[in-house]
Amino acid sequence: MSHIVTNYDGGITAAPRAFVQPTCVEEIQAILRDRKQYPSPVRAMGSYHSLTPCASSNGTMVSMARLNRVVNIDRERMLLTAEAGIHVIDASKALRAQGLQFRLNIEIGNMTLGSAACCHSKDALDGVEYGQFGSYLWGMKWVDPSGELREANEDENPDLLRFMRASHGLSGIVVEVTFHIEPEEGAELTYLPRPVSDLTADEVNGIIDRSEGLICWTVRRTSVFQTKKRIDRPGMFATVSAEIRHKLWNYLVAYTARNIEEEVPEDMRKGAMDADFSLIKSLYELLHRMGGITIHDADKTIDYRDTEPDARYVFTFWSFPRAEWLRVLREYLDFADLYFQKHGFRCNMPLGSYYIRRDDKSLLSYSADGDTFSIDPIHAPTDRDAWNRYLDAFNEFAFQRGGTPLLNQSPRLTRAHVQAAYGERWNDFSARVRAADPEGRMLNPFFAELLAEAE
Ligand SMILES: Cc1cc2nc3c(=O)[nH]c(=O)nc-3n(C[C@H](O)[C@H](O)[C@H](O)COP(=O)(O)OP(=O)(O)OC[C@H]3O[C@@H](n4cnc5c(N)ncnc54)[C@H](O)[C@@H]3O)c2cc1C
Repeated sequence: MSHIVTNYDGGITAAPRAFVQPTCVEEIQAILRDRKQYPSPVRAMGSYHSLTPCASSNGTMVSMARLNRVVNIDRERMLLTAEAGIHVIDASKALRAQGLQFRLNIEIGNMTLGSAACCHSKDALDGVEYGQFGSYLWGMKWVDPSGELREANEDENPDLLRFMRASHGLSGIVVEVTFHIEPEEGAELTYLPRPVSDLTADEVNGIIDRSEGLICWTVRRTSVFQTKKRIDRPGMFATVSAEIRHKLWNYLVAYTARNIEEEVPEDMRKGAMDADFSLIKSLYELLHRMGGITIHDADKTIDYRDTEPDARYVFTFWSFPRAEWLRVLREYLDFADLYFQKHGFRCNMPLGSYYIRRDDKSLLSYSADGDTFSIDPIHAPTDRDAWNRYLDAFNEFAFQRGGTPLLNQSPRLTRAHVQAAYGERWNDFSARVRAADPEGRMLNPFFAELLAEAE
């Protein structure tokens, strides 16, 4: 009988004929070489926190869960080396025990470092330099589709590393990664609420230019600019502040939204949702008046392992050139209102926007051409079909405006979307994937439908 694999939010399931949890590199080599016992496509799986079926296979799925050790922390070169199945949060704890932290303390603690090394990712609050986790990768080892152990790093073969940073498990299974690290630091988070109607391009530019790290949360028609500044040491309430922040955003907001949709009678639901959004807005205003909070920077990373199904949420992500963000945001808000009038559906959580600086470290970097700012609808779904229909409409909206999606975090993509977004780089990427894996050992239907046609 097939093993059933389900992603974090329960929206994606797969039934691979073989499901394996190797404990060493040699086992992974044997899996890739044995096509009979381990049918194609072979897909590596981290903790399946992706929003697209990128890790799914009806052939073989290789869970990296048992390859989860820290191999070395090199304080002199400021590098952490670990097995690819370790979660960011667990590696972060090992670093903090030595007064160290990642360069990008990403919010998602359950992304595995293997996925972080070879997939799209985003974190705006620590994006002082880069906002993509893989950009801080010094080097990696992987087992290629024919079972050979390969290696690339910044010093020896940077071009291969640039391709591997985008490889999404299509060019082999990452087994070991080495990331740049730094001494632990504090973070000051401040909040500036502004009515969207009052915003000007100059004001947004000023906010961006003054920020080290920036996320914008739009609650109905109010945008709250959350900025981060590095500080040496956070205040005495840092740990409590981080705990409250986790509980509110990563539990209560999704939990309340879902329960309003499920429990409140239909005629009172709109009022209850309006009240919920007003409460969230008031909270941001309070944080603004308090002057923000300080926390340990690494406490931004959240462990979602114990989050109850009721408090889980989904999202999508499309980025836009910095200069176009305000216009696209306004058009998005109109699009969302119109969609609600027509179809009775709207997202029940605030809209996220990540500011990500120019970065060309990966062949598929979404900020390769310049700074980007995203539009990310976030939702605690009670009706999957309604969310999927909204995603299709939103994808069309974002595609029409020249947006760029992520392969693991923007559901329901088509070849036209990725081809338009990544242009010539998509052709290059597709050709390199085919060259690395000519027999399609690792190519699942999800990627087969997206890759550019072979020439
Ligand atoms: C609640 C929630 C919050 C999130 N917040 C963020 C966020 O703040 N920032 C962000 O960037 N993302 C965020 N995400 C998205 C998530 O981090 C990414 O989708 C990430 O890729 C998931 O990592 P994973 O280890 O679960 O990989 P999986 O989802 O299991 O796999 C992702 C892809 O990587 C490949 N892969 C995995 N491991 C390996 C390996 N060892 N070798 C080769 N290929 C491999 C898989 O085949 C697949 O193609 C969030 C997701 C959720 C559900």
